[in-house]
Amino acid sequence: MILKLYNSTTSQKEDFKSISPNIVSMYCCGPTVYDAPHLGNFRTFVFYDLVKRVLIQNGFEVNQVINITDIDDKIIDKVNSGAIGYKELTAKFNDMFLQHSLSLNIQEANQYPKTSDHVEAMIGFIKALIDKEYAYNVDGNIFFDTEKYSKYGKFVNIENIDRLESEDDGLGKKNQKDFALWKTWKEEDGDITWESEWGKGRPAWHTECAVLATQSLGKTIDIHCGGVDLKFPHHENESAQVEALLDSVFSNYWLHSEHLILEEEKMSKSLGNILNIGDLLNQYSAETIRLFLLSSHYRSKIYFSDEKLSDSSKMIDKINRFVKSVGLDTLDHNGDTNPSGDYLRFVESLNDDLNTPEALGIFFDFINKKNKKIHEDSLSEEDIEESKKFILGFNSIFQIIHPSVLIDEEVPEEVQKLAFIREEMRDKKNWEEADRLREEIEKMGWLIEDSESSQKLVRKK
Ligand SMILES: [Zn+2]
Repeated sequence: MILKLYNSTTSQKEDFKSISPNIVSMYCCGPTVYDAPHLGNFRTFVFYDLVKRVLIQNGFEVNQVINITDIDDKIIDKVNSGAIGYKELTAKFNDMFLQHSLSLNIQEANQYPKTSDHVEAMIGFIKALIDKEYAYNVDGNIFFDTEKYSKYGKFVNIENIDRLESEDDGLGKKNQKDFALWKTWKEEDGDITWESEWGKGRPAWHTECAVLATQSLGKTIDIHCGGVDLKFPHHENESAQVEALLDSVFSNYWLHSEHLILEEEKMSKSLGNILNIGDLLNQYSAETIRLFLLSSHYRSKIYFSDEKLSDSSKMIDKINRFVKSVGLDTLDHNGDTNPSGDYLRFVESLNDDLNTPEALGIFFDFINKKNKKIHEDSLSEEDIEESKKFILGFNSIFQIIHPSVLIDEEVPEEVQKLAFIREEMRDKKNWEEADRLREEIEKMGWLIEDSESSQKLVRKK
């Protein structure tokens, strides 16, 4: 099966081909650890997880690196403005990032290199760029010389550079397009500084990622990912440094996820607060948040609203009821299943540039078809097997079925079926029929414990 991915360098979908036959190297720009992450950050991190899981579904082993940016202007500002020290600040938000990643069922990366652990390598990299005359020194600040590099402009039309964001102005660079590789020490930097042959200072962001990526994954990587706002200047500048110095293609595929947008009328301070991912996780389940983030295509903007999260929550209830009705008792997915029918169409959608909304639609159509059979009492053993296989395949990508949903195997099939119909009746607010079914289930020796969104069967003592 062919996996197609939209490559930002060519602006089209391309067949994915890895450098090594079975292994994919993937570099993802990680968090700057100075503040609590918000939902927009995690849209990007869940997107990384989606790319990885779809690659695994295609039989690849993925070697994934997510860097931790712990040297940055924003970090220095925070240290200067508050009572918290540098080490304490960066450790706190590094831990928070890892903790929330775990909560949102994001698979662990192979490496999380921290900038501050690799400053020596960055100094060596900058020195090599100076030796090759791709970089120059102005009063201890080192800049990349874009005039010397003819291929500058991978992602943008650099003729429009005046209208593009420019940075490091006022530090003495020769050309507006040039960017800093090393920033010389200033008083406000305090102790956050390293010695180099150009004096005290620190590496700049674009150099940090260029070095961490090539150091951990080699001079050409398969996939480089990031949010769309990183395309220029960050990825442009990462790429220029590596390709100038190593005379190689830095990454064969560049993937970028779109923004998360707040619906305008709700741009209130309180909403700003609830978009803190930690607060959101107190309000909604991790599964609900994950499904909301995956319900839009990664290259489309996603609009946040409480209504959309509550829709996701209802979708999860529906999936959970279906999981119970077919008696699923494990979430282990061995990955070697041979997809067919609707499940095959689901896999094909994901292989078409990670089309999660289409894949979800196929899964829900499938659930509706099988639910109809449950009502008609015509669900066969084959239907159950097909459903289990599809659910496991679905969950290996979406990761939104909580283990607590799995059916207790001891519950007899007839009881499970009545409980399923009762849940449907409750959804339709047919309380009379729901009560009647509850009594019938009780006569069979089982009690129903209702919670807000689901029900649990326990044996009557
Ligand atoms: Zn980066």
